[in-house]
Amino acid sequence: MSTNIQIPLLKDHHSHPLLYAAFRQAVSLQGVKTKETASEILQRAVSDSPTALSVVHGWRSNFFQWSPKEIEAMPPVAIFNVSLHSLLINSAAKQILLRHYGDVVNQLHDRTWYENNLRVVLNWFANLYASAENLRLFYGEMLRQGVYHVEEMLLVDENEINLFERSGMLDRTNFWAAPDTFESLSKSARDRVHGLKLFTDGAIGSRTAAIKRPFIGGSEKNLGMLIYSDDELARTMARCIQTGKSLAVHSIGDRAIEQVIESLEKSGSDLGRVPEIRIEHAQMITLELASRAKDLGVILCMQPNFSSDSVDYSDRLDAEYCRMNNPFRMLIDEFGFVAGEDLIFGSDGMPHGIEAAASQSFFPPFASQKLTIDEFVAAYCMEGTAEGSIQLAINEDLKKVTCTVM
Ligand SMILES: [Zn+2]
Repeated sequence: MSTNIQIPLLKDHHSHPLLYAAFRQAVSLQGVKTKETASEILQRAVSDSPTALSVVHGWRSNFFQWSPKEIEAMPPVAIFNVSLHSLLINSAAKQILLRHYGDVVNQLHDRTWYENNLRVVLNWFANLYASAENLRLFYGEMLRQGVYHVEEMLLVDENEINLFERSGMLDRTNFWAAPDTFESLSKSARDRVHGLKLFTDGAIGSRTAAIKRPFIGGSEKNLGMLIYSDDELARTMARCIQTGKSLAVHSIGDRAIEQVIESLEKSGSDLGRVPEIRIEHAQMITLELASRAKDLGVILCMQPNFSSDSVDYSDRLDAEYCRMNNPFRMLIDEFGFVAGEDLIFGSDGMPHGIEAAASQSFFPPFASQKLTIDEFVAAYCMEGTAEGSIQLAINEDLKKVTCTVM
């Protein structure tokens, strides 16, 4: 049985346009499953300019890995894990970054420092290639993939707003900024910022999402990492709430989500000053946490394309976590989260586009992750088809979606 339906273009509620625009200059390992193929791609990329810095992204550590010695033997290279939450970089590449950004680059090898300063590091790479032209090309590519609007979850600096203006893309994004970036902005730039963004844990791909039962397969007990102590988070949230802006908080693991909800509960009536409070990702949200999030009026901004983590990361998540990941049916059917109201979707660029979004939404690994077409459209699409549309052919027998962007 096949269903044909026309839907509006996507509104991606979570991505990093300037960084991914910069990654257009980088080497992509998206979809690469073997080290041999990756090596060929890398070799081809560096052969043109072996002394320049090669930035690589989309590497999936569940498929293959490099030893520190192998990395060191390569020309200057920085390889991002697909989650962006871990980075392999050799001394030659660090030397190049040092010239731009100074001694702080030497901290890169320290995992805790890296998670705590992820935003800073991603901004280094975004700024290496930031231009209005790259942004324009990025949004052109998004359109070909069925995406019209892409929220910027990590505003790099004031210049990024100027680049968006020059590229004519201001109406195709919302800016979210870290508190210190926000405070560094001029009054007029602050007015253009939609909300503030915090990270409270890492990611699954880098085994740094804060979870309650340890990651499996590692040599030592690893519960991931929380970025803040409870007190620090309460103080940081209070600082954000004071601005009267919306607030988006990255938390993936159940331990991180619990910490955020507890902190929000303690903020009490102050929350009334915040137009909207979002939890980004919320992949491991439990029944109990879902009920508390609903009571708080929190919006969950989730990524249907991460439903495949249940399979891709079964080497590091226990069976129960694989089952818990992205529990859309529980959120909608048991707690009354409403798609498009307090449940919205984005991609985090891993990957962008209608193809992965649709196939993971309609044919996910677990029935608990399956979405209806109406839910998908309400939580993930533009209001109407004025900007364009997508033709979906959903084949239930073959478990396949064919997407045509029009
Ligand atoms: Zn993100």
